[in-house]
Amino acid sequence: MLALAAGLAARGSPLFDQLKAEYQAKGAVELVAGDETFPVASSAGQITGKNALSSEIDLCLYLFRKEIGKYPKEIFPLMQLKRVVFCRELAVDSQPRAAVADWDHGTLYVEIHSGIYADNHRRKMIHHEIYHLIDFADDGVLGRDPDWVALNPPDFFYGGDTKLDQKTTAATHPSPGFISTYARLNVAEDKAETFASLMVYDVKVQLLFKQESVLGGKVQQLKQELAIFCPQLDAAFWVQAAKF
Ligand SMILES: [Zn+2]
Repeated sequence: MLALAAGLAARGSPLFDQLKAEYQAKGAVELVAGDETFPVASSAGQITGKNALSSEIDLCLYLFRKEIGKYPKEIFPLMQLKRVVFCRELAVDSQPRAAVADWDHGTLYVEIHSGIYADNHRRKMIHHEIYHLIDFADDGVLGRDPDWVALNPPDFFYGGDTKLDQKTTAATHPSPGFISTYARLNVAEDKAETFASLMVYDVKVQLLFKQESVLGGKVQQLKQELAIFCPQLDAAFWVQAAKF
């Protein structure tokens, strides 16, 4: 029995086993690699992917561990995150994705192949999707926020390109109040994009948040909401989160 267990561990990834134990203890979050049933029907769309062996996922785990490690353990039950599934060829409605949140089932899907997306995009998308979980757990709906909409320039209406990729989520600041073109799609994506940009260090973005008044107002509102949602997301948390 012992020999069998040792054999299985050797075929997998010690890092995966370590993280799996850590997050099980921390927030009862189950890390999964290799036994998910695809496709998954969800409010986010039809989620497809292929199972990954835990031995394939080490590079992705280094990046994931860093990003998920930015959160206090108290937030995981609050956002109702139950599982993180590492897989290959992740897509929603046939659109390739670096990460996807399925808030119906409390699952975060993460694409493991590092060659497909730039690291900064992969890191940002983990936080973007985590925000959707927070947003849904907060009041059971995504993207209903009149106070947020009121911050936008008076002549602005949400809409536009629905494609989520490295181009549409790049911090191009296409117009006052919006960090990326994808943020202009709807309130839910605007908040997710603003949040994710706060969670990954980028000097240009930090300056924008300081100097651009509409974006600055959005950041302030987001931080206030999040401190109510999870009191550990305080000023010290934001200083730490913005460091790398
Ligand atoms: Zn999104």
